Amino acid sequence: MTLFIPNAVMKAIQDHVRETYPEEGCGLLIGDISSGFGDPESDVRVLDARPLKNMANPQRKNDRYEMDPQAWAAVEKEFSGQPRGIVGIYHSHPDAPAWPSPFDLQRAWPAYAYLIVAMTAAGAGDLRVWRRSEDGRSFIEGRTEVL
Ligand SMILES: [Zn+2]
Repeated sequence: MTLFIPNAVMKAIQDHVRETYPEEGCGLLIGDISSGFGDPESDVRVLDARPLKNMANPQRKNDRYEMDPQAWAAVEKEFSGQPRGIVGIYHSHPDAPAWPSPFDLQRAWPAYAYLIVAMTAAGAGDLRVWRRSEDGRSFIEGRTEVL
């Protein structure tokens, strides 16, 4: 999988997770679902991102995220019936590498692209994209192409 993402959207994501540091920041990736979305081999074209509040327990916000379910549902509703929709999820790993945690795997949906941004006090660092394997037992790393 290749994740195509406009530079401005990538910058907005990096700004968001810089603001939430040292807590995890999270949000939805909005993209084209008109062709091939859901196919495990398909590329993902991001058009926009929607930052969402991290509702995780305050003591775990440095290594967990829990997206506001109402805000998530509202985004789903907003795009219902459109050729655009939710194609993935982004979140940051404060002071940790951009590799998914076992917790991330437990909660991963198939088809979605999972963009993880490593974040430190110095700023946004390594950035990697992942998709859950079909058997749900691992993540497969994709490629990110900033447009
Ligand atoms: Zn994570």
